[in-house]
Amino acid sequence: MIYEFNLKNPAFDRVVFLLTVDKKKMSERVIIGEAGEVRLRLERNIGDFFYDEVRPIGSLLFNFETNPERDWNVNLMQIYEKGFKIRLSVKSVPKALNQCINFLRGKYENGEPSAMFAAIRIWENYLRCYNINHGADIFKDRSAMLCKPFHALSEYKAWELEAVNALQTALHAEESQVELWYPVSKRPFECVVTYSSFLTIIFYYLNKIEEWGLVFQECKVCGSYFLTKSRHFELCGDECRKAQAIEARRQFDERNKDEKVEAIYENHYQYWYNRLRRLKKSNAAEADILAFTNIFNKFRKEAVKRKNEVKSGKMKLSAFTSWLAEQQNIVDGVVKRGGEKWK
Ligand SMILES: [Zn+2]
Repeated sequence: MIYEFNLKNPAFDRVVFLLTVDKKKMSERVIIGEAGEVRLRLERNIGDFFYDEVRPIGSLLFNFETNPERDWNVNLMQIYEKGFKIRLSVKSVPKALNQCINFLRGKYENGEPSAMFAAIRIWENYLRCYNINHGADIFKDRSAMLCKPFHALSEYKAWELEAVNALQTALHAEESQVELWYPVSKRPFECVVTYSSFLTIIFYYLNKIEEWGLVFQECKVCGSYFLTKSRHFELCGDECRKAQAIEARRQFDERNKDEKVEAIYENHYQYWYNRLRRLKKSNAAEADILAFTNIFNKFRKEAVKRKNEVKSGKMKLSAFTSWLAEQQNIVDGVVKRGGEKWK
């Protein structure tokens, strides 16, 4: 069922936000809808709803609506200041409210349940308060109460102590009310239901997490937050586990490649070194030994440079090995020709 932000009288009896958290499945379920319908949904899987999703445990806290640009305030003030002075007609929406309706509809359509619920409740509240005494002020108080966590959670994560402190300041009596539902057919499952404020939902959630000994972690691969049973789990899901395995394999290959290029270099170095040693043993002239030492040093310098280029990926391993073979042929040819000078 899609919520229509129109000017008909509030069509719904009491729209509620229901949360149930499953420790075994490590999941959460949120249902938004009229209280009676939500009950039907829960117990017999029938009934209309605006939102009904099962997500990984903690999703509500990780994705909770925030208000860094204070857009919620701007639009609520617009309704507070203009919305109660205009004549409402079902046929056409007054210009002054157009922007607010679009804002609320946008929040509703973005699909994040905290924002969806706030949008519906604010609009229902407006229609409800429009015809009553001091309606504008009641509307303003109720809306502010509903949006309170959005400000705190713009600055802090829900599970940070600062957030809890910010949320708890000036807690209204009305905000601390919560209903616990126990669906008949699923008795072990406890559901927490709110109507006017998210605070109790957030505190209930944090308490459950603490009671179950779960920990908040930041995924090492994608950086998103998740809940887990132990600090040892550092990855949020299968996708990131797969990504990390691929990365580990790549690093392994990389290290292997480095080792291989070192070994090849080492072999060639040894080859040249042995040639020099043999030359020294064969009573060669001082000048010949010096000349060979010079080209050996030149070879070594160039070989180290190329070896590093292979490691950093600037040169292919095959190009390096064929260059080494070329150098070996040159030195072999020179040695074979015996008496020739090493120049
Ligand atoms: Zn991840």
